[in-house]
Amino acid sequence: MTTTIQEVDVLAVFAHPDDAELSVAGTLLKLKSLGYRTAVCDMTRGEMGTRGTPEIRAKEALDAAAILKLDFRFNLELPDGHVWLTEESRTAMVRVIRRYKPKVILTTHWDDPHPDHASTCRIVREGARLATMGHYDEEAALDPVKIPAIMHSLFSRRVVPSFVVDVSEFVTGKMKAIRAHASQFYSESSSEPETRISARGFLQEIEVRMGYFGSLIGVDAGEAFFVREALNVDDPVALLTRPMNIYS
Ligand SMILES: [Zn+2]
Repeated sequence: MTTTIQEVDVLAVFAHPDDAELSVAGTLLKLKSLGYRTAVCDMTRGEMGTRGTPEIRAKEALDAAAILKLDFRFNLELPDGHVWLTEESRTAMVRVIRRYKPKVILTTHWDDPHPDHASTCRIVREGARLATMGHYDEEAALDPVKIPAIMHSLFSRRVVPSFVVDVSEFVTGKMKAIRAHASQFYSESSSEPETRISARGFLQEIEVRMGYFGSLIGVDAGEAFFVREALNVDDPVALLTRPMNIYS
């Protein structure tokens, strides 16, 4: 049996086909501009969605992947609305992590109101740990890996960000990648039922949030992240003399 190894530096793992775009597209574009190899893993095809079909959404996800200049985008095809931490979902995640060997994973935060998002976070955290254990899932014949770092994308006022990534240069690209999911968002000509995210003001809210998180570090736009582990800082002077906002 030959196994294809397709290593990336950064892997974004989100539940539904437009979640990575809404949450971390600015950071993915920035990391690509810095020369990193990037990929997105969608857990489901979004077949529970009120608007669009799985086929339309798969095409939109590929269009968005091209805008984000991803090296890979793939879908685990777990059942939308029924993403659970199970032996099967953990094993699938372990195999993804061992195949793509990301150094850093971007995913949701465990305190997310959507059950699929919260479960995705748990599957990623447990999968990352288990992927280091040589005797776990030996039948797939994939080598264990060093545990990747995990950045949790934040939107909630209840969680204080560990850091904010300046994505000011990538707002246009992010919004273009989001709009590639045309079936999901506001369009004057659409006759599909309105949802929370297809309302006219939703995309504006995304931009306003980026502006808010950017304001916390004194830039035009930011994406906020929480890291559970203590950060290992080599040079606190270099870190703390970057532009900040004392009123954040
Ligand atoms: Zn979602």
